[in-house]
Amino acid sequence: MNDITRLTAAELADKLAAGEVSAVEATQAHLDRIAAVDGDVHAFLHVNEHALDAASDIDRRRAAGEQLGPVAGVPLAIKDVLVTTDMPSTSGSRILEGYMSPFDATVVARSRVAGLVPLGKTNMDEFAMGSSTEHSAYGPTHNPWDLERIPGGSGGGSAAAVAAFEAPLALGSDTGGSIRQPAHVTGTVGMKPTYGGVSRYGAIALASSLDQVGPVTRTVLDAGLLHDVIGGHDPHDSTSLTDDWPSFADVAREGARGEVLKGLKVGVITELPDSGFQPGVAESFRASLEILQAHGAEIIEVSAPHFEYGVAAYYLILPAEASSNLAKFDSVRFGMRVDVPGGTVEDVMAATRDAGFGDEVKRRVILGTYALSAGYYDAYYGSAQKVRTLIQQDFTTAFGQVDVIATPSAPTTAFKIGEKIDDPLQMYLNDLTTIPANLAGVPGISIPSGLASDDGLPVGIQFLAPAREDARLYRVGAALEAALVDSWGGPLLGRAPVLGGAR
Ligand code: GLN
Repeated sequence: MNDITRLTAAELADKLAAGEVSAVEATQAHLDRIAAVDGDVHAFLHVNEHALDAASDIDRRRAAGEQLGPVAGVPLAIKDVLVTTDMPSTSGSRILEGYMSPFDATVVARSRVAGLVPLGKTNMDEFAMGSSTEHSAYGPTHNPWDLERIPGGSGGGSAAAVAAFEAPLALGSDTGGSIRQPAHVTGTVGMKPTYGGVSRYGAIALASSLDQVGPVTRTVLDAGLLHDVIGGHDPHDSTSLTDDWPSFADVAREGARGEVLKGLKVGVITELPDSGFQPGVAESFRASLEILQAHGAEIIEVSAPHFEYGVAAYYLILPAEASSNLAKFDSVRFGMRVDVPGGTVEDVMAATRDAGFGDEVKRRVILGTYALSAGYYDAYYGSAQKVRTLIQQDFTTAFGQVDVIATPSAPTTAFKIGEKIDDPLQMYLNDLTTIPANLAGVPGISIPSGLASDDGLPVGIQFLAPAREDARLYRVGAALEAALVDSWGGPLLGRAPVLGGAR
């Protein structure tokens, strides 16, 4: 493997700025890596044929003495839920096969302005519905730690690309966990910002009151660097916050020094007992808490009695919003059309949606339409919204007592491809600990906490903070990461051979 692909984004950015590596070399190294391993991993749906042009433009501008941003020349993988003008955007669906957007998503446009080099579009569950990337219309992505296992979902492509050293940075989206759960199962870092902290303009909507775009990386600092590029107010997104945000990269650098852990109050949720988790996951979580304590943090039990209803409420709110958002795929406005000779417009629409949508999408559209229908609205959608309010109140109460809440990022390590595909409920339960953050709009980060003692697969720890306190997550995440990497004697992904190595 080329050494360039082993560098973190921060390290690569330093080498680019110092002129030790050119953007073309960095991009070529990652394209070579993709060519070598993506046949096995299948992280990418599309590799950008313009990547080297974009890279040589950065090199030319740097050579001309132009002042470039801190990550100029670093390659970036983009989840296919984000629209791009120069590559197809499918959201993992057959219905959008080959679809070319007339505009770039704001996060993509900002990435280009920052000089990040788009490497390609990454695989995902269709319309971001899933926890395993098996619901992609284009075939599953494989976990680089064990190719027979899932890389998480819906953003399994972005997480696998970063974990397999095919890209140092990736963009993801998180509606109920799709950045954090893939990070958990691939040994990477995933950050879901505060609702409204990063623009969703040009993110193909799943559930608009839950969706957030965010970074997928190998280190907390790298997540901060990417967040700095994509975050901040966007007039094109009516839900975008107008806050001034600090530099999350600076915050992560400061956090890595570790003092932040002294006196930090870390909440653990009483209603999430260890028994709900795979033993190796619970054990890794406890070990991380001990490290936090050893560095001066205080572990405090907090009650969040409504968390356990999060999954149920989510699977009413999400399908309701999704059924409405996906109504635009009507055979007229976007994507594919199945002709029905002599048929009505409804016949064409039905035939198109039948052929263009996969089973999981159909399941959720039907569920959502039902939950919103006149006779059932109050009983289902109305009740779910009330539960949502109770979960928000749980957070408010808990954050009155602690600075951050910690949970395992998911109940189990990566499961086998095919294991849960026919059992939607088991699939949904994967997001037990990630969903509450989306329902409440608060930020959440997952960082690697180690390898599970029972199966040797990666485990993540999640930190949650009050809305707008994203910086706190970078500070705490970087501090724990530094302590853990110290205890491992090097980063997790560097320690365990990825692809072809004997794990
Ligand atoms: N796994 C969850 C779902 O299936 C979360 C998806 C997401 O965050 N996009 O809805």
